[in-house]
Amino acid sequence: MKHWTLEHEQGGIAVATLDRAGESANALSAEVMAELGELLDGLDRQPPKGLIFRSAKPAGFIAGADIDEFSQLDTPARGRALVARGWELFNRLAAVPYPTLALVRGHCLGGGLELALACRYLLAVDEPGTRLGLPEVMLGIFPGWGGMLRLPQRVGPGAALDLMLTGRTVDAQRARKMGLADDCVPPRVMDAAARQLLLSGQPRRPLPLLQRLLGGPLKGVVARGARRQVAKKARPEHYPAPYAIIELWQKHGGNALAAPEIVDRIIASPTARNLLRVFRLQERLKGFGKDGDFTAKHVHVIGAGVMGGDIAAWCALRGLRVTLQDQDIGRIAPAIQRAAKLFTRKLRDPLLARAAFDRLIPDPEGQGVAHADVVIEAIFENTDAKHALFRQLEPRLKPGAVLASNTSSLKLEDLRTVLQRPERLVGIHFFNPVAMMPLVEVVAAEGADPAALQAACAFVRQIDKLPLPVRSAPGFLVNAVLAPYMLAALRAVDDGIAPETVDAALLAFGMPMGPVELVDTVGLDVALAAGRQLADGAEAPRCLAGRVAAGQLGKKSGRGFYDWSSGKPAKAAAGAVPAGLAEKLVRPLVDRTQALVDAGIVADADLADAGVIFGTGFAPFTGGPLNHRRTGGRAI
Ligand code: NAD
Repeated sequence: MKHWTLEHEQGGIAVATLDRAGESANALSAEVMAELGELLDGLDRQPPKGLIFRSAKPAGFIAGADIDEFSQLDTPARGRALVARGWELFNRLAAVPYPTLALVRGHCLGGGLELALACRYLLAVDEPGTRLGLPEVMLGIFPGWGGMLRLPQRVGPGAALDLMLTGRTVDAQRARKMGLADDCVPPRVMDAAARQLLLSGQPRRPLPLLQRLLGGPLKGVVARGARRQVAKKARPEHYPAPYAIIELWQKHGGNALAAPEIVDRIIASPTARNLLRVFRLQERLKGFGKDGDFTAKHVHVIGAGVMGGDIAAWCALRGLRVTLQDQDIGRIAPAIQRAAKLFTRKLRDPLLARAAFDRLIPDPEGQGVAHADVVIEAIFENTDAKHALFRQLEPRLKPGAVLASNTSSLKLEDLRTVLQRPERLVGIHFFNPVAMMPLVEVVAAEGADPAALQAACAFVRQIDKLPLPVRSAPGFLVNAVLAPYMLAALRAVDDGIAPETVDAALLAFGMPMGPVELVDTVGLDVALAAGRQLADGAEAPRCLAGRVAAGQLGKKSGRGFYDWSSGKPAKAAAGAVPAGLAEKLVRPLVDRTQALVDAGIVADADLADAGVIFGTGFAPFTGGPLNHRRTGGRAI
């Protein structure tokens, strides 16, 4: 066998180790599955006392099915054959007469978890990399290899649907608590613990009565509740997969082959194709951080305001030592308080939160500059202030340190004129709110040092964000495409369409937030200034200029287009949406995206789509603005 090895131990235990040839992570390709079938054939002839599945990859157990094979699913018959392959093989595994155990260390996702669920026991190794989940829904498909059958049986329908419908993953301890793993042990005892559990004869923990009722006579109630939850986040015409998962669980016992029309519908839907595309684009962005050997240990952030404070907190959360500088300690304190909240929310464990807190060091004197591998400037948006700062900074930097500005609107070419080595300044442009936005633009000015840009990308990956290389130009990619879109929305308001109606039209298109609410969120003054810079000198919309003059700046002032006094926008019922409104408002965004590709600001159309999706939330099921136009999307 090419991918599996089977060892027979003294005591009669067989150990099947997956080490997929030529890949750094295990995935269940057609070949891997066929070999697993052969392996089971052999064991049928000579049954072992027990069988353990493990992985030889340091990366983890099994990352899922081989998604490259998904793109070959061009006919319904092929789609059904793919489902049948895993469904039948894992049913066979679940029925073998000897005990089986999956020793799960590192990621165990999708088809990998379905294999583990088909084993009698699941032993999770308690270390940070261990994550279990069924994220198929994020690719627009469903866990068709037994996940929809066995996960609800193991953890109860509520928890199972939650995992399958959100794509969320859980760690080893959580997996044990919810009953997904039979036990969770530290790495040093995992081999002994696996053998002991395998031969223990221990029966599966039965589900509590309530869970059995919810998975039996009360299925309909659970399914209705789940549909209501999903409907809050995803419309069936945009995202059919979560609805299919609920139906397959409720009516077909999780067996997709019993409802081939659903399989055909999902596999033929553009959503599945486009979400797969988005996944690949995300992998491509991740790849930008891979070359070279730059690793940051210490980051120094200057400016503890909205952005600098949150950037510093995020870097500390991700394990870096961070010094945070501002004009005085009083301006740093609020950022530290915000950071403490972030650590508690994200890390949950008080010891880990404490450790993150200890990594974030207030540094009003700027002593961290001399030790930092990355220095990020996030002070006021003012060229003179930034010049004065850069003059002081440059002589104190470590030789290979990255010097970056978070500027949104100033030209790097102007900012770097005061530097002895101007080519070392790069843009590392985060979005607000830092903790929520996955994209970071890495900005190259003319003649910038490629090594500095490479290091900047590696740093962005290190803190678990997605780097998008862009060339220096007003608004880079993301703000440049948002400006004409927001402008078009506000012109529609000038033309007498209610803000509620404009927002409703774009929500129906698939945007995460309506453009008028977005303007309220970023601030009307910021939108006005950005509009002036990015809208080719056109006059500002009256509805915007008027409100700014009246001091109605949006969420931050309690009132903009909407009343925010309750913390949320108070919206009246939307009127009937005029035909073609969403198309009309999205078109300028798509046009601008294309223009930026043509001008070489971003290297190609795919990267532009990735940037717009991860930087603005542009409807992912479309595959991005340019893909949407290219594939003749309904709306444009
Ligand atoms: P902010 O006004 O909230 O914070 C700026 C901070 O810098 C203040 O705390 C100020 O005291 C400090 N500061 C000013 N001069 C200083 C100096 N010489 N030394 C030390 N500290 C100094 O501003 P912000 O919104 O966080 O923006 C900061 C930068 O980030 C700007 O360049 C802006 O264009 C960019 N940016 C902002 C956003 C956003 O949504 N706010 C998004 C992306 C990028």
